[in-house]
Amino acid sequence: MGYYVSSERMDKIIDELKKEYKIYAPKRFENRGWKPNTDLIRYAEINSVSEIVYDEKSDFSPKEVFYPISQTLLYFTEDKCIESSIDDSKNIILFARPCDINGIKRLDTIFLKNGDKEDNYYKRLRDKIKIFMMECRKGWDNCFCVSMGSNRTDNYSAAVRFEDNGLLIEVKDEEFKKYFSGETSRDFTPEFVQQNQTKVKLPKIDNIDLLRKVYNLKLWDSFNTKCISCGACNTVCGTCSCFDTTDIIYNETSRRGERRRVWSSCMLEEFTTMAGGHKVRETAGKRMRFKTLHKVYDYNARFGGTEHMCVGCGRCSRRCPEEISFSDTINSLSDEIEKISSEEPSSREVNK
Ligand code: SF4
Ligand code: SF4
Repeated sequence: MGYYVSSERMDKIIDELKKEYKIYAPKRFENRGWKPNTDLIRYAEINSVSEIVYDEKSDFSPKEVFYPISQTLLYFTEDKCIESSIDDSKNIILFARPCDINGIKRLDTIFLKNGDKEDNYYKRLRDKIKIFMMECRKGWDNCFCVSMGSNRTDNYSAAVRFEDNGLLIEVKDEEFKKYFSGETSRDFTPEFVQQNQTKVKLPKIDNIDLLRKVYNLKLWDSFNTKCISCGACNTVCGTCSCFDTTDIIYNETSRRGERRRVWSSCMLEEFTTMAGGHKVRETAGKRMRFKTLHKVYDYNARFGGTEHMCVGCGRCSRRCPEEISFSDTINSLSDEIEKISSEEPSSREVNK
């Protein structure tokens, strides 16, 4: 069912929705961008439709709404441990684009379907989320969602097309129909990006001998000088899930404190440092190899199907201070694999 809702009416509906939900959407923070005199677009709570930035790509993904940058897991004293709790009073409406909705599905797989236990700290916030899809028909120059098959989704409660003075909305979820029942009916079916300017060729690694050769490619060494291991690419990514667990003691002499999980990054030099100082991936090239294969090989090898972890949002390429393009990296990897395969076809199947 579709409706046309003027911006003025939508603000009134938002007021009503806010009695039951917190509403998060991409929002502008002036002069907070990482380059001088630029704005930052990131997810935050909104109170009116005019606050939603729908015509620019957000710098950060929506994941920080349900997978916070820093999250307290438990509180402890000398002899007691208390599980943290969350504000349970309101559910959350999240405005998100199709690629990011697919990114949420990847995080669901990692936190909820990776082994026989669900991650309770993820689940308790994730269960609150209701998605309002922001229609995305064009994308931007560094998007490659079509190549990754993540340009479409039907996983939403409502879908929205923003127009100059109002919006078209398709409401699928019964829970929200009452808020729009008095509005003007209008046929509306959301459209999706059909083609991106940037395209990637996905690597085809179908046997263990080839995987070993990929592991030893010279391509990775080129990142030893290019990549500064800042981790910015992981921070803006909607599908990166790595974290550190840290105990905070409230003061030097106290035995009271809390355990937090804090986003981390596989591109940081210290990320794989083990007790005794050994580093599993000691160069930037090895870390780039890990990240790239994780995004376009390992996830798929572990979970099957056709999905890769990367959804092609292009944020990592846009954020990289060294202008390392992730789509170029994937394409270079695929070219190298094609070269190896044409020279020496391998026979042994990877044991997935
Ligand atoms: S394009 Fe980059 S930021 Fe976006 S999902 Fe893929 S790896 Fe993550
Ligand atoms: S690829 Fe770019 S953003 Fe990522 S760690 Fe290296 S320099 Fe930083």
